[in-house]
Amino acid sequence: MSTGKTQYGFNRGTVHAEMTVARKMRRNKTYDLYVCRLSAKDEFVYSKPCDRCVSTLKNLRQLRYIYYTNYDGEFAVLSL
Ligand SMILES: [Zn+2]
Repeated sequence: MSTGKTQYGFNRGTVHAEMTVARKMRRNKTYDLYVCRLSAKDEFVYSKPCDRCVSTLKNLRQLRYIYYTNYDGEFAVLSL
């Protein structure tokens, strides 16, 4: 079992934060990704990565888990 690094994706607006993070990842390392999105009121809102981002990230084979905030503002996890 290897310990992964953690990357944070911060998504505010139209940019897909997951993709920005993917570009920063180093080869041969495993990562857990946290994706957060804030509303105009600075509250956590639903931030599950879109299907396209998920499949792109999956193809990298460097991510174990993606954490995102659900409709209740709590973290949920997606296992790749
Ligand atoms: Zn996306």
